[in-house]
Amino acid sequence: DALVEVTGLTKRYGDTLAVDGVDLTVLPGEVYGFLGPNGAGKTTTLRILTGLIAPTSGEVRVLGGMPGQSGVLGRTGSMIESPAFYPYLSGLDNLRLLAEYAAVPRRKIDEVLDLVDLTDRARDRFSTYSLGMKQRLGVAAALLKDPELVILDEPTNGLDPAGMRDMRRLIRELGSGGRTVLLSSHLLGEVQQICDRVGIIAAGRMVAEHNVEDLRAEQ
Ligand code: ADP
Ligand code: ADP
Repeated sequence: DALVEVTGLTKRYGDTLAVDGVDLTVLPGEVYGFLGPNGAGKTTTLRILTGLIAPTSGEVRVLGGMPGQSGVLGRTGSMIESPAFYPYLSGLDNLRLLAEYAAVPRRKIDEVLDLVDLTDRARDRFSTYSLGMKQRLGVAAALLKDPELVILDEPTNGLDPAGMRDMRRLIRELGSGGRTVLLSSHLLGEVQQICDRVGIIAAGRMVAEHNVEDLRAEQ
């Protein structure tokens, strides 16, 4: 069964049709790239899928339920906005706070810190982290509840080349570890590198969907 099933999704902001009839299916175990230029409607769609905002119309099923339902939220990890952490606390203490709030066992914290390659810097203040490290801590936070579905909005946006490389490697690791990932990006080369399937969105409309293998073949 699909983990994400979206049919005819629209979102209107006043006169702006931010999302215009999007259909989207994400299957278990795939890394799905939502590719489109700035303003295409990616963030709006992902915010709807995580229950942050309501659609204007359309059908949205996430993990068999409605976005934002507690049963669905508990099984979804997301990084939609730039992650907000306490700057004066260490990465570790920031995760401890989140873990406590979500009743996540302590050992999970070490596990996710290791996964995002922040174990060595875990005791340093968040404010001393590079942007790439901040984003990876955001991914770590998204993974605390061991979610079946991970939703990441432009996870490499603004990162320097090394930061991009690390983030892409991390996402590939999530995929090869069997995690289902839905991410957005405005970089074709990036989704070609890290995704199995790509949906292309422009001006709120899904214009094409490809297996990444086919995208490569066309070039
Ligand atoms: P993307 O993530 O692909 O850059 P967005 O989903 O952020 O695209 O935006 C899609 C369109 O909707 C843009 O025209 C944007 O300006 C508009 N938009 C997004 N959020 C809002 C909002 N809260 N109020 C009004 N317009 C919005
Ligand atoms: P992104 O590029 O990731 O879509 P933006 O910088 O476009 O993010 O948007 C940041 C915030 O501003 C979001 O909460 C979005 O909903 C809001 N926003 C974006 N475009 C508009 C707009 N035209 N009018 C009002 N709010 C907007």
